[in-house]
Amino acid sequence: MRLEHALITTRAASFAARADATLAQLAQGGQYKHLQTLEGPMDAVVRVRGYGEVACFCSNNYLGLANHPEVVEAGVKALRDYGAGTASVRFICGTFAPHETLERALAALTGTEAAYSFVSAWTANEAVFPTLCEPGDLIISDELNHACIIDSIRLATAIKKGILKSVYRNNTLTGPNSLEQRLAEAAADPKVTGQIWVVTDGVFSMEGSIADLPTMRGLCDRHGAMLVVDDSHGTGVMGPTGRGTHEHWGMIGPGAPRADVFTGTLGKALGGGAGGYVAADRRVIEMLVQRGRPTLFSNALPVTVACSAAKAVDILLAEPHRVAKLRDNAAYARKRIREAGFDVIESPTAICPIIVHDTARAIAMSKRLLELGVFVIGFGYPVVPEGHARLRCQVSAAHDRSHIDALVAALRTL
Ligand SMILES: *Cc1c(COP(=O)(O)O)cnc(C)c1O
Repeated sequence: MRLEHALITTRAASFAARADATLAQLAQGGQYKHLQTLEGPMDAVVRVRGYGEVACFCSNNYLGLANHPEVVEAGVKALRDYGAGTASVRFICGTFAPHETLERALAALTGTEAAYSFVSAWTANEAVFPTLCEPGDLIISDELNHACIIDSIRLATAIKKGILKSVYRNNTLTGPNSLEQRLAEAAADPKVTGQIWVVTDGVFSMEGSIADLPTMRGLCDRHGAMLVVDDSHGTGVMGPTGRGTHEHWGMIGPGAPRADVFTGTLGKALGGGAGGYVAADRRVIEMLVQRGRPTLFSNALPVTVACSAAKAVDILLAEPHRVAKLRDNAAYARKRIREAGFDVIESPTAICPIIVHDTARAIAMSKRLLELGVFVIGFGYPVVPEGHARLRCQVSAAHDRSHIDALVAALRTL
């Protein structure tokens, strides 16, 4: 009896001691996250508890739709028309008319046959590989892919023995450790007997760089590989009408080469609520409907969110000037930040990382900027490699030049 008690105590203590040590280590290393609380809606200017109104340069509200009156009203109306909850998974009784409307809109937006919604892009990605892959398949992944892609691959390879994976250097398509090299290795590997999958972010979230989809498509075609693109930061941002990174590259419309599977989020440009989707051929979508564990066993996307997101897609397509304004703002911000003497990574996206190298410096700068009325987050190790710490400025169509000028004025005082 006494022994049992002692064992239980030791086990309990072992977690407590371990957790305390980890948390203390994070605090010591300057990596402890202090959550800031907003006391009003997401917009160009937000109210942060303890700081008051500050210009927001760290949200994914790229098109300013998170607090758009029509997007808000669509959610309110859905709440009245359909109630607060779906109270079911999709295949039992949780499929509501707004899910179909949203999914048709997402398929049209991406230029695919069909789409299926999930409660987050994380969940959407997590459904993809464990559902679609079988032993003998190989998944080839960019080293900087989003954490949920990495976890989806980990899950697939853990639950089905014989699914293989390999990783190539970020955005490196030829030469050492490139996608081309991984495909060549696969061709020579007798264990690779099934489908080859190549997966990439459309826009890399920490760099703001984009994947070279036309070259990737060409490589995939040569090896019979399926191309999966998570365009969470590209949808609503990239391409003349904001359809995504593939539109930026002209990979849309009849006869154009395209990715086989798109994943994306409703939590960034498309209203910023929550939710994600997979858009692809009917065959892929049917496999997810029939076999995808995250939707077979977890509730449907709330109808309020589905209606807000569908409205956001309508607005995106009806008002392409929002995408143009976002692009102008991003170019203006990059130019002004560079003129202020900072090292900002060039790209056509709305993510403008300012490289400051040292993690502690990035965090201190971010804190000082908030005091000056500008909300920008510093990212350091381990989110980015040691020595590459940065302030990640995210520009929105909701910003006016005056907001960007305020950002640059604050940066100049650092
Ligand atoms: C933000 C992001 C996600 C997660 O989106 P949620 O809908 O918030 O789960 C997934 N993939 C990529 C590439 C992202 O940038």
